[in-house]
Amino acid sequence: MTDTEILAALDRYRQRGRVLNTPVAALFDMDGVLYDSMPNHARAWKSMCDENGIKAELEEFFPYEGRTGASTINVLFNRQYGRNATEEEIKRLYRRKTEFFSAMPPVVMMAGADKAIGTCLELGLACVLVTGSGQGTLLGRLDTDYSGAFPAGRRVTAYDVSHGKPDPEPYLKGLEKAGTDASHAVAVDNAPLGVESASRAGIFTIGVRTGPIPSGSLLEAGADIEVESMAEVAEVISTLSRRTAL
Ligand code: MG
Repeated sequence: MTDTEILAALDRYRQRGRVLNTPVAALFDMDGVLYDSMPNHARAWKSMCDENGIKAELEEFFPYEGRTGASTINVLFNRQYGRNATEEEIKRLYRRKTEFFSAMPPVVMMAGADKAIGTCLELGLACVLVTGSGQGTLLGRLDTDYSGAFPAGRRVTAYDVSHGKPDPEPYLKGLEKAGTDASHAVAVDNAPLGVESASRAGIFTIGVRTGPIPSGSLLEAGADIEVESMAEVAEVISTLSRRTAL
């Protein structure tokens, strides 16, 4: 990703009547951004489906990211049975998916994410977590893996919002927790629904394609720029900070 490409993305953002001043906050999604957890989630969904005779492909679960468990189960049910799942089915199947997930090898940090967070801290940006997850295992690891970057007061999780992504509420809440507004922030998300949420909150959105979803699908979902790694996210944030400071 060259400076020219990054500045062109900034121009397009501004041409849409949006404002980006020197960012003071960077909002980060968790699954597929800070942690390489999506392959485990996808495998857990697939194992649950196989066990219950529900037809599914491993890769289809990547673009579903950000949906609630219930909504994913209903997609599968409507396709196979032509109806929504009952409350009981949702509870039982989601519990199985969670059990499969917990039995998987531990999730690793996303390659390059430490660089992206390090860049933000060097530039004096406040990092904010904006996740739809309520998964205690990963949330509990943030303090050790990303020491000091995400204090308790700057986390938006499943428990803080009434409307999940793609609703703008999670990212709006993230801005609130950072004590700033969209004109002083950037957002980083890897899923189409997450990108849509950040973009609808008016934030300059960096879509990072860390999973097997088609090239361009994050731009289509509203990302202002699409990159392929967290190392590139570091470059984008660094360039935006320098160029908006002029
Ligand atoms: Mg994600």
